Amino acid sequence: MRYPVPLPRIGMRVVKTAVSVMLSYALFVPFGLLYREELGGVLGQLGPLYACIACIICTQSTLGQTFQQGISRLIGVVVGGALGTATLLLGPALDNPWVKVPVLGAVCVAGVWLCLLIKRPTACGMACILPCVILITGVTGVTRYYYAAARIIETIVGLLIALGVNAALPDHRPEPKREVKDMQVELKNTTRKLCVIGDPVGHSKSPLIQNTMIRALGLDYIYLCQSVPRGQCREWLECAKFAGYAGFNATMPHKEELIPLLDELDEDARLIGAVNTVCIRDGRTYGYNTDGAGFLRALADEGVEPAGTAVTVLGAGGAAKAVCLKLARAGARVTVCNRSREKAEALCAHDPEHLTAMGFTPEDLAAAAQGCRVLVNCTSLGMEGTAGQFADFSFLDALPREALVVDLIYAPAQTELLRQTDLRGHRTANGMGLLVHQAVLALEHFTQTRIDPEEMKERLSEVL
Ligand code: NAP
Repeated sequence: MRYPVPLPRIGMRVVKTAVSVMLSYALFVPFGLLYREELGGVLGQLGPLYACIACIICTQSTLGQTFQQGISRLIGVVVGGALGTATLLLGPALDNPWVKVPVLGAVCVAGVWLCLLIKRPTACGMACILPCVILITGVTGVTRYYYAAARIIETIVGLLIALGVNAALPDHRPEPKREVKDMQVELKNTTRKLCVIGDPVGHSKSPLIQNTMIRALGLDYIYLCQSVPRGQCREWLECAKFAGYAGFNATMPHKEELIPLLDELDEDARLIGAVNTVCIRDGRTYGYNTDGAGFLRALADEGVEPAGTAVTVLGAGGAAKAVCLKLARAGARVTVCNRSREKAEALCAHDPEHLTAMGFTPEDLAAAAQGCRVLVNCTSLGMEGTAGQFADFSFLDALPREALVVDLIYAPAQTELLRQTDLRGHRTANGMGLLVHQAVLALEHFTQTRIDPEEMKERLSEVL
Protein backbone atom coordinates (compact mmCIF):
# COMPACT_ATOMS: atom_id res chain seq x y z
CA MET A 1 0.00 0.00 0.00
CA ARG A 2 1.31 3.53 -0.79
CA TYR A 3 1.01 6.34 1.79
CA PRO A 4 0.95 10.06 0.91
CA VAL A 5 3.87 10.66 3.33
CA PRO A 6 6.80 8.29 3.93
CA LEU A 7 6.32 6.33 7.17
CA PRO A 8 9.19 5.10 9.35
CA ARG A 9 9.87 1.37 9.38
CA ILE A 10 8.99 -0.13 12.74
CA GLY A 11 11.31 -3.03 13.54
CA MET A 12 11.74 -5.09 16.68
CA ARG A 13 14.27 -2.63 18.11
CA VAL A 14 11.62 0.09 18.13
CA VAL A 15 9.07 -2.27 19.70
CA LYS A 16 11.55 -3.31 22.39
CA THR A 17 12.50 0.28 23.15
CA ALA A 18 8.84 1.26 23.49
CA VAL A 19 8.19 -1.64 25.91
CA SER A 20 11.31 -0.74 27.94
CA VAL A 21 10.28 2.90 28.17
CA MET A 22 6.78 2.04 29.35
CA LEU A 23 8.19 -0.32 32.00
CA SER A 24 10.59 2.39 33.16
CA TYR A 25 7.74 4.82 33.60
CA ALA A 26 5.69 2.28 35.51
CA LEU A 27 8.61 1.48 37.81
CA PHE A 28 9.96 4.97 38.41
CA VAL A 29 6.87 7.13 38.72
CA PRO A 30 6.46 6.21 42.44
CA PHE A 31 10.10 7.24 43.04
CA GLY A 32 9.41 10.56 41.38
CA LEU A 33 6.66 11.13 43.92
CA LEU A 34 9.12 10.53 46.76
CA TYR A 35 11.29 13.53 45.93
CA ARG A 36 13.06 14.66 49.13
CA GLU A 37 15.02 17.88 49.15
CA GLU A 38 17.24 16.93 52.10
CA LEU A 39 18.58 13.90 50.14
CA GLY A 40 19.49 16.06 47.22
CA GLY A 41 16.38 14.82 45.54
CA VAL A 42 18.05 11.49 44.84
CA LEU A 43 14.79 9.58 44.75
CA GLY A 44 13.25 12.16 42.50
CA GLN A 45 16.37 12.12 40.35
CA LEU A 46 15.70 8.46 39.64
CA GLY A 47 12.89 9.76 37.52
CA PRO A 48 11.27 8.11 34.56
CA LEU A 49 13.06 10.24 31.99
CA TYR A 50 16.54 9.16 33.03
CA ALA A 51 15.60 5.50 33.33
CA CYS A 52 14.10 5.68 29.86
CA ILE A 53 17.30 7.13 28.48
CA ALA A 54 19.21 4.27 30.07
CA CYS A 55 16.75 1.81 28.51
CA ILE A 56 16.94 3.36 25.06
CA ILE A 57 20.72 3.23 25.13
CA CYS A 58 20.62 -0.32 26.43
CA THR A 59 17.95 -1.73 24.13
CA GLN A 60 19.80 -3.16 21.17
CA SER A 61 18.87 -5.98 18.84
CA THR A 62 20.48 -8.76 20.83
CA LEU A 63 21.12 -9.62 24.46
CA GLY A 64 24.91 -9.45 24.01
CA GLN A 65 24.68 -6.03 22.43
CA THR A 66 22.35 -4.76 25.15
CA PHE A 67 24.69 -5.96 27.81
CA GLN A 68 27.76 -4.43 26.17
CA GLN A 69 26.05 -1.06 25.61
CA GLY A 70 24.74 -1.05 29.17
CA ILE A 71 28.14 -1.91 30.61
CA SER A 72 29.72 0.86 28.52
CA ARG A 73 27.23 3.37 29.89
CA LEU A 74 27.82 2.10 33.40
CA ILE A 75 31.58 2.43 32.98
CA GLY A 76 31.04 5.98 31.67
CA VAL A 77 28.97 7.04 34.69
CA VAL A 78 31.33 5.35 37.15
CA VAL A 79 34.40 7.00 35.60
CA GLY A 80 32.69 10.39 35.24
CA GLY A 81 31.09 10.17 38.67
CA ALA A 82 34.35 9.22 40.39
CA LEU A 83 36.37 11.93 38.65
CA GLY A 84 33.70 14.60 39.20
CA THR A 85 33.24 13.68 42.83
CA ALA A 86 36.99 13.53 43.48
CA THR A 87 37.31 17.00 41.97
CA LEU A 88 34.95 18.33 44.64
CA LEU A 89 37.80 17.73 47.08
CA LEU A 90 39.39 20.91 45.69
CA GLY A 91 36.72 22.65 47.79
CA PRO A 92 36.45 26.47 47.74
CA ALA A 93 39.21 26.73 45.10
CA LEU A 94 36.53 25.75 42.59
CA ASP A 95 34.69 29.01 43.33
CA ASN A 96 37.17 30.71 41.06
CA PRO A 97 36.04 30.29 37.43
CA TRP A 98 39.71 30.55 36.28
CA VAL A 99 40.33 27.34 38.24
CA LYS A 100 36.99 25.63 37.66
CA VAL A 101 36.92 25.88 33.84
CA PRO A 102 40.38 24.35 33.15
CA VAL A 103 39.84 21.74 35.89
CA LEU A 104 36.54 20.72 34.30
CA GLY A 105 38.20 20.46 30.87
CA ALA A 106 41.02 18.35 32.32
CA VAL A 107 38.53 16.07 34.11
CA CYS A 108 36.60 15.49 30.85
CA VAL A 109 39.81 14.75 28.96
CA ALA A 110 40.87 12.33 31.72
CA GLY A 111 37.47 10.58 31.54
CA VAL A 112 37.66 10.20 27.75
CA TRP A 113 41.25 9.03 27.98
CA LEU A 114 40.39 6.38 30.59
CA CYS A 115 37.43 5.07 28.56
CA LEU A 116 39.50 4.83 25.40
CA LEU A 117 42.29 3.13 27.30
CA ILE A 118 39.92 0.31 28.22
CA LYS A 119 38.42 0.31 24.69
CA ARG A 120 34.99 1.62 25.66
CA PRO A 121 34.46 4.55 23.27
CA THR A 122 30.70 4.60 23.88
CA ALA A 123 31.40 5.30 27.57
CA CYS A 124 33.10 8.65 26.78
CA GLY A 125 29.86 10.67 26.61
CA MET A 126 28.74 9.76 30.13
CA ALA A 127 32.30 10.21 31.44
CA CYS A 128 32.07 13.87 30.38
CA ILE A 129 28.41 14.57 31.20
CA LEU A 130 28.69 13.39 34.82
CA PRO A 131 31.55 15.67 35.97
CA CYS A 132 30.01 18.58 34.05
CA VAL A 133 26.71 18.30 35.90
CA ILE A 134 28.43 17.67 39.23
CA LEU A 135 30.82 20.62 38.91
CA ILE A 136 28.79 23.20 37.03
CA THR A 137 25.66 23.15 39.13
CA GLY A 138 27.34 23.31 42.50
CA VAL A 139 30.66 23.54 44.25
CA THR A 140 30.63 21.25 47.25
CA GLY A 141 27.95 19.48 49.17
CA VAL A 142 26.35 16.12 49.59
CA THR A 143 23.75 16.59 46.80
CA ARG A 144 26.39 16.18 44.09
CA TYR A 145 27.38 12.75 45.37
CA TYR A 146 23.75 11.74 45.27
CA TYR A 147 23.55 12.91 41.69
CA ALA A 148 26.37 10.55 40.66
CA ALA A 149 24.86 7.69 42.67
CA ALA A 150 21.48 8.30 41.04
CA ARG A 151 22.95 7.99 37.54
CA ILE A 152 24.62 4.69 38.46
CA ILE A 153 21.48 3.20 40.00
CA GLU A 154 19.29 4.31 37.09
CA THR A 155 21.76 2.76 34.62
CA ILE A 156 21.76 -0.58 36.41
CA VAL A 157 17.95 -0.64 36.60
CA GLY A 158 17.65 0.54 32.97
CA LEU A 159 20.05 -2.19 31.89
CA LEU A 160 18.11 -4.84 33.80
CA ILE A 161 14.85 -3.73 32.18
CA ALA A 162 16.44 -3.73 28.73
CA LEU A 163 18.00 -7.17 29.24
CA GLY A 164 14.67 -8.54 30.47
CA VAL A 165 12.76 -7.06 27.50
CA ASN A 166 15.36 -8.36 25.06
CA ALA A 167 15.23 -11.83 26.57
CA ALA A 168 11.42 -11.88 26.49
CA LEU A 169 10.89 -10.55 22.95
CA PRO A 170 12.37 -12.06 19.76
CA ASP A 171 15.13 -10.24 17.87
CA HIS A 172 13.33 -10.13 14.59
CA ARG A 173 9.76 -10.28 13.42
CA PRO A 174 9.01 -13.31 11.25
CA GLU A 175 10.18 -12.51 7.71
CA PRO A 176 7.21 -11.36 5.65
CA LYS A 177 6.64 -13.60 2.65
CA ARG A 178 8.62 -12.04 -0.16
CA GLU A 179 6.27 -11.04 -2.91
CA VAL A 180 7.36 -11.66 -6.49
CA LYS A 181 9.16 -8.49 -7.47
CA ASP A 182 7.59 -6.34 -10.12
CA MET A 183 9.98 -6.21 -13.06
CA GLN A 184 7.59 -4.85 -15.65
CA VAL A 185 9.28 -2.98 -18.45
CA GLU A 186 7.37 -1.45 -21.31
CA LEU A 187 8.28 -3.22 -24.56
CA LYS A 188 8.35 -1.59 -27.97
CA ASN A 189 9.70 -2.75 -31.32
CA THR A 190 12.69 -0.50 -30.67
CA THR A 191 13.45 -1.89 -27.16
CA ARG A 192 17.09 -2.93 -26.84
CA LYS A 193 18.13 -6.13 -25.10
CA LEU A 194 20.56 -6.54 -22.20
CA CYS A 195 21.15 -9.56 -19.97
CA VAL A 196 23.33 -11.26 -17.37
CA ILE A 197 25.10 -14.50 -18.27
CA GLY A 198 26.42 -17.11 -15.84
CA ASP A 199 26.32 -20.76 -14.87
CA PRO A 200 24.31 -20.92 -12.66
CA VAL A 201 22.60 -17.53 -13.03
CA GLY A 202 19.01 -18.07 -11.84
CA HIS A 203 19.76 -16.53 -8.42
CA SER A 204 21.16 -13.29 -9.91
CA LYS A 205 19.74 -9.99 -8.65
CA SER A 206 20.97 -8.17 -11.77
CA PRO A 207 17.66 -8.40 -13.72
CA LEU A 208 15.75 -6.93 -10.75
CA ILE A 209 18.35 -4.18 -10.21
CA GLN A 210 18.78 -3.24 -13.86
CA ASN A 211 15.08 -3.38 -14.81
CA THR A 212 14.26 -1.22 -11.77
CA MET A 213 16.81 1.38 -12.89
CA ILE A 214 15.72 1.15 -16.55
CA ARG A 215 12.13 1.79 -15.52
CA ALA A 216 13.04 4.62 -13.15
CA LEU A 217 15.07 6.34 -15.86
CA GLY A 218 12.48 5.72 -18.62
CA LEU A 219 15.07 3.98 -20.83
CA ASP A 220 14.05 1.86 -23.83
CA TYR A 221 15.86 -1.33 -22.70
CA ILE A 222 14.94 -4.71 -21.24
CA TYR A 223 17.29 -6.79 -19.07
CA LEU A 224 17.06 -10.61 -19.16
CA CYS A 225 18.71 -13.59 -17.48
CA GLN A 226 20.63 -15.99 -19.75
CA SER A 227 22.30 -19.23 -18.72
CA VAL A 228 25.51 -19.82 -20.67
CA PRO A 229 27.40 -23.06 -19.87
CA ARG A 230 31.06 -22.85 -18.89
CA GLY A 231 33.35 -22.89 -21.93
CA GLN A 232 30.71 -21.55 -24.35
CA CYS A 233 31.40 -17.81 -24.24
CA ARG A 234 32.60 -17.73 -27.86
CA GLU A 235 29.28 -19.18 -29.08
CA TRP A 236 27.37 -16.80 -26.80
CA LEU A 237 29.16 -13.75 -28.23
CA GLU A 238 28.17 -14.71 -31.79
CA CYS A 239 24.62 -15.32 -30.65
CA ALA A 240 24.42 -11.99 -28.76
CA LYS A 241 25.70 -10.04 -31.77
CA PHE A 242 23.26 -11.81 -34.11
CA ALA A 243 20.32 -11.24 -31.76
CA GLY A 244 21.15 -7.55 -31.50
CA TYR A 245 22.00 -7.40 -27.77
CA ALA A 246 23.31 -3.99 -26.67
CA GLY A 247 25.41 -5.69 -24.02
CA PHE A 248 25.48 -8.03 -21.05
CA ASN A 249 26.89 -8.54 -17.57
CA ALA A 250 28.95 -11.62 -16.77
CA THR A 251 29.13 -13.50 -13.52
CA MET A 252 30.78 -16.77 -12.44
CA PRO A 253 32.44 -18.53 -14.26
CA HIS A 254 32.72 -16.25 -17.33
CA LYS A 255 34.50 -13.15 -16.01
CA GLU A 256 37.97 -14.37 -16.97
CA GLU A 257 36.99 -16.63 -19.87
CA LEU A 258 35.67 -13.62 -21.82
CA ILE A 259 38.92 -11.62 -21.67
CA PRO A 260 40.69 -13.06 -24.77
CA LEU A 261 37.45 -13.11 -26.78
CA LEU A 262 36.67 -9.37 -26.71
CA ASP A 263 37.77 -6.72 -29.22
CA GLU A 264 38.70 -4.09 -26.63
CA LEU A 265 39.18 -3.94 -22.86
CA ASP A 266 39.12 -0.93 -20.56
CA GLU A 267 41.97 -0.19 -18.16
CA ASP A 268 40.27 -1.83 -15.15
CA ALA A 269 39.43 -5.02 -17.06
CA ARG A 270 43.09 -5.29 -18.12
CA LEU A 271 44.30 -4.50 -14.58
CA ILE A 272 41.98 -6.99 -12.86
CA GLY A 273 42.09 -9.61 -15.64
CA ALA A 274 38.31 -10.05 -15.57
CA VAL A 275 35.23 -8.38 -17.10
CA ASN A 276 31.76 -8.07 -15.65
CA THR A 277 30.28 -5.79 -18.32
CA VAL A 278 30.40 -6.20 -22.12
CA CYS A 279 28.95 -3.68 -24.59
CA ILE A 280 28.26 -4.55 -28.22
CA ARG A 281 28.49 -1.57 -30.57
CA ASP A 282 28.49 -1.95 -34.37
CA GLY A 283 29.42 -5.61 -34.10
CA ARG A 284 32.45 -4.92 -31.85
CA THR A 285 32.70 -6.05 -28.23
CA TYR A 286 34.02 -3.79 -25.44
CA GLY A 287 34.82 -5.26 -22.01
CA TYR A 288 34.72 -3.36 -18.71
CA ASN A 289 35.18 -4.20 -15.06
CA THR A 290 32.98 -2.06 -12.79
CA ASP A 291 33.62 -4.01 -9.54
CA GLY A 292 36.81 -2.15 -8.56
CA ALA A 293 35.46 1.32 -9.40
CA GLY A 294 32.12 0.43 -7.75
CA PHE A 295 33.97 -0.50 -4.57
CA LEU A 296 35.92 2.79 -4.53
CA ARG A 297 32.65 4.70 -4.97
CA ALA A 298 31.07 2.75 -2.10
CA LEU A 299 34.14 3.58 0.02
CA ALA A 300 33.86 7.27 -0.92
CA ASP A 301 30.25 7.17 0.34
CA GLU A 302 31.72 6.20 3.73
CA GLY A 303 34.11 9.17 3.56
CA VAL A 304 37.25 7.10 2.87
CA GLU A 305 39.89 8.36 0.45
CA PRO A 306 42.20 5.40 -0.39
CA ALA A 307 45.46 7.29 -1.09
CA GLY A 308 47.88 6.55 1.77
CA THR A 309 45.24 4.58 3.72
CA ALA A 310 46.10 1.28 5.42
CA VAL A 311 43.54 -1.35 4.38
CA THR A 312 43.23 -5.01 5.40
CA VAL A 313 41.48 -7.27 2.90
CA LEU A 314 40.28 -10.73 3.93
CA GLY A 315 40.22 -13.14 0.99
CA ALA A 316 42.03 -13.45 -2.32
CA GLY A 317 39.27 -14.63 -4.70
CA GLY A 318 37.74 -12.75 -7.63
CA ALA A 319 36.13 -9.96 -5.60
CA ALA A 320 39.28 -9.47 -3.49
CA LYS A 321 41.39 -9.14 -6.63
CA ALA A 322 39.23 -6.30 -8.00
CA VAL A 323 39.18 -4.55 -4.60
CA CYS A 324 42.93 -4.96 -3.90
CA LEU A 325 44.21 -3.94 -7.32
CA LYS A 326 42.00 -0.84 -7.48
CA LEU A 327 42.95 0.14 -3.92
CA ALA A 328 46.64 -0.33 -4.74
CA ARG A 329 46.27 1.72 -7.95
CA ALA A 330 44.61 4.47 -5.86
CA GLY A 331 47.63 4.53 -3.50
CA ALA A 332 46.38 2.50 -0.53
CA ARG A 333 48.66 0.16 1.46
CA VAL A 334 46.85 -3.17 1.48
CA THR A 335 47.43 -6.29 3.60
CA VAL A 336 45.81 -9.37 2.05
CA CYS A 337 44.93 -12.24 4.42
CA ASN A 338 43.84 -15.51 2.85
CA ARG A 339 43.30 -19.08 3.99
CA SER A 340 45.38 -20.36 1.05
CA ARG A 341 48.35 -18.09 1.58
CA GLU A 342 49.81 -18.86 -1.86
CA LYS A 343 46.72 -17.26 -3.45
CA ALA A 344 47.31 -14.10 -1.40
CA GLU A 345 50.96 -14.10 -2.48
CA ALA A 346 50.01 -14.54 -6.16
CA LEU A 347 47.60 -11.59 -5.86
CA CYS A 348 50.20 -9.39 -4.12
CA ALA A 349 52.77 -10.15 -6.82
CA HIS A 350 50.75 -7.83 -9.12
CA ASP A 351 51.84 -4.79 -7.07
CA PRO A 352 54.39 -5.68 -4.36
CA GLU A 353 54.92 -2.00 -3.54
CA HIS A 354 51.35 -1.63 -2.24
CA LEU A 355 50.24 -5.21 -1.44
CA THR A 356 51.47 -7.51 1.37
CA ALA A 357 50.36 -11.14 1.81
CA MET A 358 49.48 -12.82 5.12
CA GLY A 359 47.80 -16.01 6.31
CA PHE A 360 44.40 -16.39 7.97
CA THR A 361 45.23 -17.56 11.53
CA PRO A 362 43.73 -15.54 14.43
CA GLU A 363 47.23 -14.13 15.06
CA ASP A 364 47.60 -13.10 11.39
CA LEU A 365 44.19 -11.43 11.41
CA ALA A 366 44.90 -9.57 14.68
CA ALA A 367 48.27 -8.36 13.36
CA ALA A 368 46.65 -7.20 10.11
CA ALA A 369 43.77 -5.49 11.92
CA GLN A 370 46.12 -3.49 14.12
CA GLY A 371 46.70 -0.08 12.63
CA CYS A 372 44.39 -0.50 9.61
CA ARG A 373 41.87 2.23 8.79
CA VAL A 374 39.55 -0.02 6.76
CA LEU A 375 38.99 -3.78 6.97
CA VAL A 376 37.17 -5.40 4.04
CA ASN A 377 35.77 -8.93 4.09
CA CYS A 378 35.99 -10.39 0.59
CA THR A 379 35.58 -14.02 1.70
CA SER A 380 32.28 -15.85 1.51
CA LEU A 381 32.31 -16.43 5.31
CA GLY A 382 28.93 -15.40 6.73
CA MET A 383 27.10 -15.41 3.40
CA GLU A 384 23.47 -16.57 3.37
CA GLY A 385 23.20 -20.22 2.34
CA THR A 386 26.84 -21.08 3.10
CA ALA A 387 27.89 -22.92 6.26
CA GLY A 388 31.21 -21.07 6.69
CA GLN A 389 31.74 -18.62 9.54
CA PHE A 390 34.79 -16.95 11.15
CA ALA A 391 36.25 -19.20 13.86
CA ASP A 392 36.50 -16.25 16.27
CA PHE A 393 36.21 -12.49 16.13
CA SER A 394 38.92 -11.54 18.62
CA PHE A 395 40.93 -9.93 15.80
CA LEU A 396 38.35 -7.12 15.80
CA ASP A 397 39.64 -6.07 19.25
CA ALA A 398 42.91 -5.05 17.59
CA LEU A 399 41.20 -2.54 15.27
CA PRO A 400 41.89 1.15 15.92
CA ARG A 401 38.91 3.04 17.26
CA GLU A 402 38.16 4.94 14.03
CA ALA A 403 38.39 1.85 11.78
CA LEU A 404 35.61 1.11 9.28
CA VAL A 405 34.66 -2.54 8.55
CA VAL A 406 33.11 -3.34 5.18
CA ASP A 407 31.61 -6.73 4.32
CA LEU A 408 31.07 -7.31 0.59
CA ILE A 409 28.22 -9.66 1.48
CA TYR A 410 24.76 -8.08 1.21
CA ALA A 411 22.61 -11.12 2.12
CA PRO A 412 22.17 -11.14 5.05
CA ALA A 413 22.26 -7.35 5.37
CA GLN A 414 24.11 -7.67 8.70
CA THR A 415 26.57 -10.55 8.79
CA GLU A 416 27.92 -11.87 12.09
CA LEU A 417 31.17 -10.03 11.29
CA LEU A 418 29.32 -6.70 11.05
CA ARG A 419 27.30 -7.47 14.19
CA GLN A 420 30.45 -8.22 16.17
CA THR A 421 32.07 -5.05 14.77
CA ASP A 422 29.03 -3.01 15.74
CA LEU A 423 29.25 -4.37 19.29
CA ARG A 424 32.77 -3.04 19.54
CA GLY A 425 31.62 0.44 18.53
CA HIS A 426 33.15 0.63 15.03
CA ARG A 427 31.47 1.87 11.86
CA THR A 428 30.27 -0.78 9.39
CA ALA A 429 29.00 -1.04 5.82
CA ASN A 430 27.63 -4.05 3.94
CA GLY A 431 27.96 -5.05 0.27
CA MET A 432 24.89 -3.15 -0.91
CA GLY A 433 27.01 -0.08 -1.77
CA LEU A 434 29.21 -2.08 -4.15
CA LEU A 435 26.22 -3.96 -5.60
CA VAL A 436 24.44 -0.73 -6.51
CA HIS A 437 27.49 1.23 -7.70
CA GLN A 438 28.82 -1.53 -9.98
CA ALA A 439 25.33 -1.90 -11.51
CA VAL A 440 24.99 1.87 -12.06
CA LEU A 441 28.41 1.98 -13.74
CA ALA A 442 27.45 -0.97 -15.99
CA LEU A 443 24.20 0.73 -17.06
CA GLU A 444 26.19 3.90 -17.77
CA HIS A 445 28.39 1.87 -20.15
CA PHE A 446 25.40 0.19 -21.83
CA THR A 447 23.48 3.43 -22.37
CA GLN A 448 26.42 5.87 -22.54
CA THR A 449 24.60 8.28 -20.23
CA ARG A 450 25.43 9.60 -16.74
CA ILE A 451 23.24 8.20 -13.95
CA ASP A 452 22.81 9.63 -10.45
CA PRO A 453 23.78 6.79 -8.05
CA GLU A 454 21.99 8.43 -5.10
CA GLU A 455 18.64 8.40 -6.88
CA MET A 456 19.20 4.78 -7.94
CA LYS A 457 20.11 3.76 -4.39
CA GLU A 458 16.82 5.17 -3.21
CA ARG A 459 14.84 3.36 -5.92
CA LEU A 460 16.67 0.08 -5.33
CA SER A 461 16.20 0.22 -1.56
CA GLU A 462 12.48 -0.26 -2.26
CA VAL A 463 12.98 -3.56 -4.12
CA LEU A 464 16.13 -5.17 -2.68
P1 NAP B 1 35.67 -16.53 -4.60
O1 NAP B 1 36.46 -16.11 -5.77
O2 NAP B 1 35.10 -17.91 -4.56
O3 NAP B 1 36.59 -16.31 -3.27
C1 NAP B 1 36.16 -16.77 -2.01
C2 NAP B 1 37.17 -16.33 -0.94
O4 NAP B 1 36.66 -16.74 0.33
C3 NAP B 1 38.54 -16.97 -1.10
O5 NAP B 1 39.54 -16.05 -0.72
C4 NAP B 1 38.48 -18.15 -0.10
O6 NAP B 1 39.74 -18.53 0.43
C5 NAP B 1 37.66 -17.52 1.01
N1 NAP B 1 37.02 -18.55 1.82
C6 NAP B 1 36.00 -19.37 1.47
N2 NAP B 1 35.70 -20.20 2.50
C7 NAP B 1 36.56 -19.91 3.51
C8 NAP B 1 36.76 -20.40 4.85
N3 NAP B 1 36.00 -21.40 5.33
N4 NAP B 1 37.74 -19.84 5.61
C9 NAP B 1 38.52 -18.83 5.12
N5 NAP B 1 38.38 -18.32 3.87
C10 NAP B 1 37.41 -18.84 3.08
O7 NAP B 1 34.41 -15.56 -4.36
P2 NAP B 1 34.29 -14.00 -4.77
O8 NAP B 1 33.64 -13.87 -6.08
O9 NAP B 1 35.60 -13.34 -4.54
O10 NAP B 1 33.21 -13.48 -3.69
C11 NAP B 1 33.56 -13.36 -2.31
C12 NAP B 1 32.40 -12.75 -1.53
O11 NAP B 1 32.16 -11.42 -1.98
C13 NAP B 1 31.09 -13.51 -1.71
O12 NAP B 1 30.47 -13.62 -0.47
C14 NAP B 1 30.28 -12.63 -2.64
O13 NAP B 1 28.90 -12.71 -2.38
C15 NAP B 1 30.79 -11.24 -2.28
N6 NAP B 1 30.67 -10.31 -3.42
C16 NAP B 1 29.83 -9.25 -3.27
C17 NAP B 1 29.68 -8.34 -4.33
C18 NAP B 1 28.75 -7.18 -4.16
O14 NAP B 1 28.29 -6.63 -5.17
N7 NAP B 1 28.48 -6.73 -2.97
C19 NAP B 1 30.41 -8.51 -5.51
C20 NAP B 1 31.27 -9.60 -5.60
C21 NAP B 1 31.39 -10.51 -4.55
P3 NAP B 1 40.65 -19.64 -0.35
O15 NAP B 1 41.33 -18.90 -1.46
O16 NAP B 1 41.58 -20.13 0.68
O17 NAP B 1 39.69 -20.68 -0.86
